[in-house]
Amino acid sequence: MRILVTGGAGYIGSVVTEELVSGGHETVVYDSLCKGHRGALVRGAKLVVGDLMNGALLGRTLEENRIEAVIHMAADSLVGESVEAPQKYYSNNVVAGLSLLDAMMEPGVRRLVFSSTAATYGEPEKQPIEESDTNNPTNPYGETKLAIEHALRWYDNAYKLRYASLRYFNAAGATERCGEVHDPETHLIPIVLQAAAGRRERVEIYGDDYPTHDGTCVRDYIHVVDLARAHILALGILDERSAIYNLGCGGRGYSVREVIETARAVTGREIPTHIGPRRAGDPAVLIASSEKIRRELGWQPTMQVLRVIIESAWRWMQSHPNGYEERQRESQK
Ligand code: UDP
Repeated sequence: MRILVTGGAGYIGSVVTEELVSGGHETVVYDSLCKGHRGALVRGAKLVVGDLMNGALLGRTLEENRIEAVIHMAADSLVGESVEAPQKYYSNNVVAGLSLLDAMMEPGVRRLVFSSTAATYGEPEKQPIEESDTNNPTNPYGETKLAIEHALRWYDNAYKLRYASLRYFNAAGATERCGEVHDPETHLIPIVLQAAAGRRERVEIYGDDYPTHDGTCVRDYIHVVDLARAHILALGILDERSAIYNLGCGGRGYSVREVIETARAVTGREIPTHIGPRRAGDPAVLIASSEKIRRELGWQPTMQVLRVIIESAWRWMQSHPNGYEERQRESQK
């Protein structure tokens, strides 16, 4: 298939692009490179540098490349930041998302895989969380993703735009080429590994008084390759129907302390910690029921064990001590 990936130079986007290219799909990455990395661009994919608000460029890109499906991953995705700066999230996630849907109308592109989030559920009523559970986002990030999901429902109804909305839990890990690097970094696993590498003094544990077995928050970590493969499977339903799927491994999840312990075992390094206050907006436990995507798409996570996920992230960090900068310098030589 000919596929446009918005945000394909980002962390998850680059791994999805790897999977698409290796699966023989003609892939065009559309990325502003504001947060994405040129060095993350996968060989074999074409890059168009552009903003989602540039409807003319989007339209041209869709038409000239005869795009058949879009995977929309370009967005802002930090809970805390979204509370501080809702305007940014409504602009970059909602207004820009609608601009993409507009651009898809004219050339008749009617297939979309959308990166959504577990943050649409807010403080969950029960664990594991099922897709039919109530959506009640507690921050603008979840709210803006849910706004696009709602728009998609009506675009499907009126224009037969078929979509798969994938509600991500905690993506982690790396491939040989593609890994996680954000500036500033806010995600637990890269932060813990930076501390192991001596690039950060310590890890601040955001609260140890949660109602969990060790007092720290429990999350459902999913390897980025398993996550990426779900996008390819989701493309397969879009000729017939739309659907919403959770994307986590399910199971028991892992606490912040367990992540740190596992990282100590993987790296053999000291990882100093400090107990700090809770971070605003963090639910105690977020665990997906991934029954629906397993049953309907045959999706199976292959790297559920936290140790395996952290090992892959550690390997990538060691081979890319400066993130993507080195790769860029190499490719400029
Ligand atoms: N966390 C932490 N210290 C950090 C970063 C994160 O204790 O420096 C905790 C955070 O409170 C949450 C878990 O680790 O309970 C995972 O956070 P992350 O930001 O990686 O993902 P989120 O669950 O917010 O999407």
